[in-house]
Amino acid sequence: MRALTYFTRVAPRDRISLMKKVNTVAVVLKSINYRDSDKIYTLLSKDLGKIPAVARGVRKISSRRAGNLDTLNLVKVGLSESLSGMRQIDEVSGLNSFRRLKSDYVLTIQCSYVVELLHKTTEEGGNAEPAFELLVKFLKIASKFPENIDLAVRFFEIHYLGLMGYGLNTETCLKCKKDLVEKGPLLYLDTEHGGFICGDCSHHGLSFSTQTVAKLRELTGNKLSKTGEKTLKDLSIITSALIDEHFGIRIKSRELL
Ligand SMILES: [Zn+2]
Repeated sequence: MRALTYFTRVAPRDRISLMKKVNTVAVVLKSINYRDSDKIYTLLSKDLGKIPAVARGVRKISSRRAGNLDTLNLVKVGLSESLSGMRQIDEVSGLNSFRRLKSDYVLTIQCSYVVELLHKTTEEGGNAEPAFELLVKFLKIASKFPENIDLAVRFFEIHYLGLMGYGLNTETCLKCKKDLVEKGPLLYLDTEHGGFICGDCSHHGLSFSTQTVAKLRELTGNKLSKTGEKTLKDLSIITSALIDEHFGIRIKSRELL
């Protein structure tokens, strides 16, 4: 029996040729320990979407790869895929470690929230390039303007909702189709239909100022500008309501914000 097992085993050289190799860029979303010295990472990659990949030996003190694979790091990875479909990280080089975002508790929590939202609402595999690009854009904005982290997170949420098919109409009243900013002063949020209703058409639900809706317009149009505390708070209420309505999941790190 032993001899038979021996002869049917794939020799190392052949095993390598059976592996499919691929290079991609990715953001590290999370990691868990695996076996004695390995880790399984969840990556949001540009070319393969969200994928798990094992890195061998990274928990050994001598491993130089471990630091490169910290959560939130933007990395270039060389992956190989075994016949069983499990991907292995063979090579890593760091492109951006967004160190500033990890140096402060509030920034870390805000980024953990974004990563958790993405992780819990993205399927494995598939085309995640727009989500990958959005996450990298968010990390760059947040690193450059850490004092505006709240607005950067709202920017991410609004655009992410749009990518998932839940874009928000910030232009016209969902009922009378008139320009929202002209129909103020109060506008009523309709989370189900993704927009606002003017005071002439409804008086139901959460209401917001035209100023807040104008700010949402700016965010959907990729513009980030100075925002007062009240408007920031209102924007947070709006995105929370939309995320509850469309995803209906509990994001643990949001409770820490
Ligand atoms: Zn109306």
